[in-house]
Amino acid sequence: MKRALTLFGALMLLLSASAQAQYTPWLYWTFLPRAQMDEIVGEASGESAWRTIATINAFNRDRLPEEYTGTFFETQYVLGQLKRYGLESAEIVTYPGGEAWRATKGELWEVKPIRQKLASYNDMVPMLASGSSPTQATGDLIWIGRGTAEDIRLAKVEGKIVVTEGNISAVHSEACLRQGALGVIAVSQGRPDSGPLVIPWSGIGARRRPPIPGMAAAETPGQTPPPTPKFGFNLPLREGELLKKRLLAGETISVEVKIETESLPYDMENIVCLIPGSDPDSGEIIFSAHLFEGIAKQGANDNISGSAAILEVARTLQTLIADGRLPRPKRSIRFIWGPEFAGIGRWVQANQAIMEKTLCNINMDMVGEWLTKCQAHMCLMRTTYGNPHYINDVMENYYRYVGEGNRERIQNRSTSYPVPRRIVSPFGAEEPFYYSIETHYGASDHEVFNDWGVGVPGVMMIAWPDPWYHMSGDLADKSDSTQLKRTAAIGAAAAYTVASADDGMAVRIASETASNAARRLGHQFVVGLEELNSAKVESLGESFKSARACVEAALVNERETLDSVLELATDRAKVGAHIAKMKKATEAVAAAHLAALQAHLEMVVAGLGSKPVVPVLSDLEKKAAKMVPRPTSKVRAEGYRGYTKFIEQVPKEEKAKFPYAQFGPTDFMGNTAELHCLINGSHTVLDIKKMLDAQSQRKANLQNIINYIQVLRLAGLVEIKEAK
Ligand SMILES: [Zn+2]
Repeated sequence: MKRALTLFGALMLLLSASAQAQYTPWLYWTFLPRAQMDEIVGEASGESAWRTIATINAFNRDRLPEEYTGTFFETQYVLGQLKRYGLESAEIVTYPGGEAWRATKGELWEVKPIRQKLASYNDMVPMLASGSSPTQATGDLIWIGRGTAEDIRLAKVEGKIVVTEGNISAVHSEACLRQGALGVIAVSQGRPDSGPLVIPWSGIGARRRPPIPGMAAAETPGQTPPPTPKFGFNLPLREGELLKKRLLAGETISVEVKIETESLPYDMENIVCLIPGSDPDSGEIIFSAHLFEGIAKQGANDNISGSAAILEVARTLQTLIADGRLPRPKRSIRFIWGPEFAGIGRWVQANQAIMEKTLCNINMDMVGEWLTKCQAHMCLMRTTYGNPHYINDVMENYYRYVGEGNRERIQNRSTSYPVPRRIVSPFGAEEPFYYSIETHYGASDHEVFNDWGVGVPGVMMIAWPDPWYHMSGDLADKSDSTQLKRTAAIGAAAAYTVASADDGMAVRIASETASNAARRLGHQFVVGLEELNSAKVESLGESFKSARACVEAALVNERETLDSVLELATDRAKVGAHIAKMKKATEAVAAAHLAALQAHLEMVVAGLGSKPVVPVLSDLEKKAAKMVPRPTSKVRAEGYRGYTKFIEQVPKEEKAKFPYAQFGPTDFMGNTAELHCLINGSHTVLDIKKMLDAQSQRKANLQNIINYIQVLRLAGLVEIKEAK
């Protein structure tokens, strides 16, 4: 009876979840009270953020030599604005960056049969491939098509300058470094929708990124240094096609090349500032955005836009708090700008004490683009299961508010508010906020925070796709002030929600997380259904196990997400009791899904004419279900990626006893970064496998996971307990 009641309750919850996924056309809510939300939306200026992008990246700028000895242009601008906004704590924190390549001249002239300029660094910085060596040469051009090794061999390129529509770096390596060509001219093949007048920010020669201690060393002892590069030029398609046509017609074209470059030492520059909360012990929220894509390489959307948006978040919150329009929150809000991974990673590594009290990270990367020009969605990339946190649900609340409130709905067409919560910048696009709440994606600075050695859950705001990113066309004209205003408002509202949260807010966040959990579990339920629908008789047992695992893994994540809300509570007993009830409700939803999967299985069994399926654990699964790995204090002892050193120190012969292949064809282990984070002292190794599998297209090999965890044990990073 009790069980039937629980099931009934769960089914009711299920129904309410599916109704909620179709948003009501009359209810628009945020965690913050309407009056506070209106202040944030009103104050956030897309035009101000757009000006930042235009000032820094209206065009592809050649860096001045004095920037290397002093401060970079971007750094100076952001710092100056922060001071103007009244953020007195803003400071530059530098770390040695190594040497940067810079050109002082890069000219490519045709000298025979006609004299004309073909490319110049002075015309457009990325026309000269970064890494090019100083050159003074004349030579004949030779067309090599896509420039495969075979194309190059047949063309006999020695002493010539190759012209290709292939990848400049790959062609340079083969034609110049192996087969004696003097240099390479690439006719840029942009992305299909980027147009004929863009060229990539591509370099030749070794990519030199400044090293991060604890990360794989830049120079491995005994390794021979990479060969000195020759030179490369990028031509836009329109110019390149003219050259290609003449070469294919058999013309002999001679060119003269003059390149002067220098190598300049520089510092990596981070800018850090803080809006202090009223209680310095109650924790922080940190915004991040990479202000530098490279030292030469620039991009308006990637990522001056993220830098401009968090700068606008800082201005908005600082202004509202200073004016008394929002009360000073209890918790502090910090901001960091810097070089992607290398710079921000160094700062995080050097500030482990701050990381210990940081609740979560909001990273912005490529957030300014005009959505319809790019055919893009504004995405929220959630944290993985290894970093469960309510920030996902807080962000989702504001994404949904802006997204659902900024579309015209047929139900509202005859009211005064067909677009019910219009958020549009006066000189920006009037268009819907095409948004999408997505599973995790890394490749930006939130990964510094999500790292095992740091342990701060981080989400990313990113608009995708962008036809111009990493190309000369990534300029301010592709940015939209409406998009920037909405992004800044979402960021500011989410951070302020967490920073100011009292127990009442904690309760609301927990309850809404449970509501969203029902929807997410519903998705895992259908993933499981599809696994069963495509199963064969012989694989039905395994398919049923993995169908269940999707729901089970998601449930573990939802429980832990709910637990994370407790960090906001003052009255931990009261809020904790509420969280426990929300967990119970969530468990009931999952139980109903598992029961429904069982019922679906029985129908599949009948349809296939198979024997009844009773899932049994293999011996290895039984073993994994008894192992509970727990991280030791060594994991965070050295901060960001500091633990890798201990893994490297495990003697080879010891490691060899526990072989594992991360990305092997048949023995895939899954995402190692995620595997690390799933080790929390309560997940069994079998749980970890389920959680990896539920987040990946490929299933991880359990023996590999066990072996890798044994290597972590040898490194002193985990202890393995036996499950009770
Ligand atoms: Zn980026």
